[in-house]
Amino acid sequence: MTPARTPQRWVGHADLDAFYASIEERDRPAYRGRPVVVGALPGHRGVVAAANYRARAFGIHSAMPIAEAYRRCPEAVFLRPDMAKYVRVSREIFRILETLTPVVEPVSIDEAYLDLTGLEKLLGPPEAIGRQIRQRIREVTGLCASVGIGPNRLIAKLGSEHRKPDGLTVVYPDQVLDFLAPMPVASLRGLGRQTQRIFSRLGIRTVAQLRAVPLRDLEQQLGRKAAANFHAQAFGIASAEVVPNRLRKSISKETTFDEDVREQTTLHDVLRGLAATVAATARRENLSGSLVSLKIRFAGFETHTRQRKIPFPTQDERVILREAWALFRHGNLPPKPVRLIGVGIRDWQQPEPAQEDLFDQSPKRARDGRLLETLDRAADRFGKGILQIGCAAKTDKLKPR
Ligand SMILES: [Mg+2]
Repeated sequence: MTPARTPQRWVGHADLDAFYASIEERDRPAYRGRPVVVGALPGHRGVVAAANYRARAFGIHSAMPIAEAYRRCPEAVFLRPDMAKYVRVSREIFRILETLTPVVEPVSIDEAYLDLTGLEKLLGPPEAIGRQIRQRIREVTGLCASVGIGPNRLIAKLGSEHRKPDGLTVVYPDQVLDFLAPMPVASLRGLGRQTQRIFSRLGIRTVAQLRAVPLRDLEQQLGRKAAANFHAQAFGIASAEVVPNRLRKSISKETTFDEDVREQTTLHDVLRGLAATVAATARRENLSGSLVSLKIRFAGFETHTRQRKIPFPTQDERVILREAWALFRHGNLPPKPVRLIGVGIRDWQQPEPAQEDLFDQSPKRARDGRLLETLDRAADRFGKGILQIGCAAKTDKLKPR
């Protein structure tokens, strides 16, 4: 490797190894060297939230029912998650990352993309930068992170997965094709079950095999957009943009009507679409709000806002719609035709009760979670508003004043 090769962009991806379980091992030396499973407790309903590598050797993985994890390894240490502690450690890690580069994009509690472009003069070549990231995280938190560095997000992410746990992988632009070639197509981003099925029907198992398929043929199988996406990824082409994502204050969406609307059913339908958009954004950004607001404008720019505190922070469109509709019906608004309607959420709170519920998976909660996930996937694929959760409206016609 000659140091003269200076790529235009460097993206890093840092990912803590078995995050929750590693924190518990760190804090309780008695658990070190033992399989550790964080999630529900055996004898209760629920799933594995995180398993350390010793537990993974027994085939235990996250989202596995806890009873199955117990069957595989009864002598493992089983612990309830301590989300408040994990969030504290996560903040420490993000602070460390932000001392290295101001452009840090959080992906989850223990994962981030970093823009490392132009840092060579300050911090040395990418290998040195990767070593520093891992070393500082270890010094400050006592935890191991895997780091991937490459010319774009795809390569950085695959790089951090490449030598997990406790690994560092740097892929130079002229190594990208060789790095990707042997990887299973499932490593590519956004590969759903449907696409996976099409690929296996065509006998495409590796990225190299995918690369050999002419784009035309791929288009016939996947449609133009998906074909272009996977074709590009197979050649290592992906976005290098890292968006530092500072916590926003609120998420809201509003609509102005061409003609003022009197029909409550219409208003309810529109509100449902707005609530769905707001909720999808909240879920994508991992935010849960405990204040729902409604904005209404009548003819002549007469604008009213109403808001309502809810007992649990939410990112569920049904809750947002229900609250917004209640504000509309019981918010003492004048019964005039509506020009503009909007809905929003804010007052972010750590969704700890919801997190707990995740591990104590009642069938309803699990079904709701899957439903919301499906909606998000469909929205990503087909554009927003294609699917909405049905919710009956109690409506009556606005009486003219
Ligand atoms: Mg991780």
